[in-house]
Amino acid sequence: MIKNVFYELQNIKCDSGKEEVDSMSKTIIYHIDVNSAFLSWQACQDLSIDEKALDIRTIPAVIGGNEQERHGIVLAKSIPAKAYQIRTGEPLVNARKKCPNLKVIPPDFSVYVEYSKAFIALLQKHSPVVEQYSIDEAFCDMTGMEILHGNPVDFANTLRNEIRDTLGFTVNIGVSTNKLLAKMASDFTKPDKVHTLFPEEVEKKLWPLPIEELFYVGKSTSKKLHLLGIKTIGELAHTDRTLLKSELKKHGEVIHDYANGIDNGVLTDHTEPNKGYGNSITTHYDVTDRDTALKIILSLCETVGARIRADGVYISVVSVTLVDCEFHHVSRQMTLPSTTNVTERIYEAAVSLFDEAWHKVPLRLLGVSTSHASPDKYEQYNLFDMEKYEKLSNLNTAIDSIRSRYGEDSVKRACFLNSETDHMSGGLQKAKRNSENKV
Ligand SMILES: [Mg+2]
Repeated sequence: MIKNVFYELQNIKCDSGKEEVDSMSKTIIYHIDVNSAFLSWQACQDLSIDEKALDIRTIPAVIGGNEQERHGIVLAKSIPAKAYQIRTGEPLVNARKKCPNLKVIPPDFSVYVEYSKAFIALLQKHSPVVEQYSIDEAFCDMTGMEILHGNPVDFANTLRNEIRDTLGFTVNIGVSTNKLLAKMASDFTKPDKVHTLFPEEVEKKLWPLPIEELFYVGKSTSKKLHLLGIKTIGELAHTDRTLLKSELKKHGEVIHDYANGIDNGVLTDHTEPNKGYGNSITTHYDVTDRDTALKIILSLCETVGARIRADGVYISVVSVTLVDCEFHHVSRQMTLPSTTNVTERIYEAAVSLFDEAWHKVPLRLLGVSTSHASPDKYEQYNLFDMEKYEKLSNLNTAIDSIRSRYGEDSVKRACFLNSETDHMSGGLQKAKRNSENKV
């Protein structure tokens, strides 16, 4: 509906003169990012139940795993908590040391999913193309919307106020001509702010920043760049592209473009066909033995497998990610000889990857992901394997349909009986599935 209005209005305007057509054709992208999403949404939820409730945004507070367990991690923090140098991702134990009065609230993903939906629905009222980027971030294509909304920067402020006044939480909005610059802009000072980062502002606003702040530059890339003597985004922008390519391959070219404010990514409102399926879980305790680790891995394979089958696809690459108690990340992946949608096949691959990757250091996060998903299936198994996997595939599908009718817990593998490990794991995914079931 909005789309039609948008295109018709644009056509009318196009007839009226060339100059206006030129100004209309300038791409305008917003990146909207909810400030401290989990914490803000929890505050909104508390206030919706009792309007006199204490607003956790106004006190030192964090969202984090169960504090009674030793290894909960800070998932989101209030601004007063930030003043105590509390960082997202740090153990709650450390956070508590920095601020003895800290209020710790356990995460409630079903609340976040509801607020996320309301957030996206509001954006869809104002933009013909909204691309959700994560639970609390989205891009809006506002190209040509001046006719309806006026100046794009003024309207970004109107939108920011509307979100705050109607939904109760604040956002940052980055305004630019492409997704990368809009995203970088929304990350400037927070909260409740609109920032622009147009190409002509790149030199002043982007180049002085340290390279770590550039989208797509992770820890290992920043280390390599530092070895090359590159410390700021501006220095990266001026580095010889062939040198970057020889040091960092394709990734070197991508970040060189980004440092120069170039991003040709197109904004889409339809979700790309899901090419990869993965889940991970942060444990509330140190995982020190192989049996427990494998049970968690199996529970992750259960949810990943169910999603693959629900989408009617087959995957051919499996990977396992482990993060130990010192925050070291290890990932291993393998390509299967055939495509599969069978939980047991994914699990077999994950177990061998796990054995290769794990050095007996206590674990805190385990993840299983799969990729190269496609609706086409090919087999290279011998006859015995083919029969075995065919049977398992049918069994998996039957179990999926029982679970969708009678609930996830209606069928469980025997190894999960009397086990502390949830038989179907996957953090947000589970909450998401549950809240979707409720609707
Ligand atoms: Mg955010």
